[in-house]
Amino acid sequence: MSNRLLRSLPSIERLLERPLGSRLSAELGRDRVRDLLREITAELRDQLTRAPHSSANFQESLTEEVERMLARRAAECAQPSLRRVINATGVLIHTNLGRSPLARQAIEAVAEVGANYSNLEYDLSRGERGKRETHCQELLSRLAGSEAAVLVNNNAAAVMLVLNTLAEGGEVIVSRGELIEIGGSFRIPDVMTKSGATLREVGTTNRTRIADYQRAINDRTKLILRVHPSNYRIIGFTERPSVQEIAQLSLETGIPSFEDLGSGCLIDLSPYGVKDEPVVAESLKSGISVVSFSGDKMLGGPQAGVIAGSRKIIDQVRANPLMRALRVDKMTYAAFEATLRLYESNTADLEVPVIRAIALTREEIGRRANLFCESVNQSTNGEFTAKIEEGASVIGGGSAPEVKLPTMLVVLEHSALSSSSIVEGLRSYRIPIIARMERDRVLLDFRTVGQEEEDIILDAIKGIAQPAPQTAASV
Ligand SMILES: *Cc1c(COP(=O)(O)O)cnc(C)c1O
Repeated sequence: MSNRLLRSLPSIERLLERPLGSRLSAELGRDRVRDLLREITAELRDQLTRAPHSSANFQESLTEEVERMLARRAAECAQPSLRRVINATGVLIHTNLGRSPLARQAIEAVAEVGANYSNLEYDLSRGERGKRETHCQELLSRLAGSEAAVLVNNNAAAVMLVLNTLAEGGEVIVSRGELIEIGGSFRIPDVMTKSGATLREVGTTNRTRIADYQRAINDRTKLILRVHPSNYRIIGFTERPSVQEIAQLSLETGIPSFEDLGSGCLIDLSPYGVKDEPVVAESLKSGISVVSFSGDKMLGGPQAGVIAGSRKIIDQVRANPLMRALRVDKMTYAAFEATLRLYESNTADLEVPVIRAIALTREEIGRRANLFCESVNQSTNGEFTAKIEEGASVIGGGSAPEVKLPTMLVVLEHSALSSSSIVEGLRSYRIPIIARMERDRVLLDFRTVGQEEEDIILDAIKGIAQPAPQTAASV
């Protein structure tokens, strides 16, 4: 039986000539489709040899089965690997979901500069070769309150570059309370080793005083490092020197000080309830020699790392040969500059998506969530019930772990489906929707959902209520 079935299967070349094969060949390329057909027929042959009875499962002919599989796989191949998703988790800077979405102005700048030639390394006033580092330099310095600034690939690169530039072959003093690990295996002690500097730990996990730093200084000391403990807090019996004390010690000893700020807010977000993220300019105003921070955390720009500080140090950093390996491309400059301009014009709270989302009130979110619940309850014939509940959004991205922004959540239930099936259904939608799952309940936090995304979520929910028939023609 199975052999007869196998023999009924047309050759791969014949399958490629059939309507589906030739249509897909035009989309994906004939070689790719041929590979897919080889994979599929090999799998089926294997399956039929091992379990001949399974042929009974093929309701129609084997050719139709092959084509059904081909259509499904081709649809998967046609999807880009990196895709847009809808973030309904309420985690604002979700590291797994690409951190900060960019402002419209940043996207436009990327499109303009990316699609055309640009003055990336060309001095338009002199008509000769220029330096890429000049872009963003003044704007960043103004916003950070520094003499100079430079952009690199991310904050991990920034930390590495500063340590290597200022402390290679010497000692760097760090508090034991600040020997942190950021997700993705970025550990201060390891970065230190790679930079060629020696770590000189002082104090204890919970308490370090300025006197501990003073005592550790010797003629090999090249730098005093302060790290913002982004993703954790030590509470209780704790002590940590202030930025001013570190800056003062640096001034007295002539040893430069460096603060890794992590997120790096350009504006004070405490009016919105984000109280424990340091403002970049404050740190530099206190007298810290150089700071570094991320471009795509609280700042809401593209992935980048900023190094800002005294002109002398920034010039040294720029002269480091590693700079060439860590520099950013034109699209990053374009997006970063456009984002910074929004801060300069004081419109970040309206235009930068992350800041706008932080600034949303529970009432605003609640109004949208309420209307959404009504739509769900009206449009799924009672299959789904959606109701409102108070909850909290978090900053995420290893920032402000204690901050809870009050929000209104949509609680989504189905008469027959389990929470995990709902979550999975949402995730496998055309535009994947990432929901929050808490105590076995499906929650949607609209703080991180754009207004124009609500209809997409509604369509996905309706689709789960009434699954579309899966036929070769519809895939
Ligand atoms: C996030 C973070 C980093 C790493 O920044 P990336 O931009 O992700 O490379 C380094 N230090 C601190 C304190 C951080 O919070």
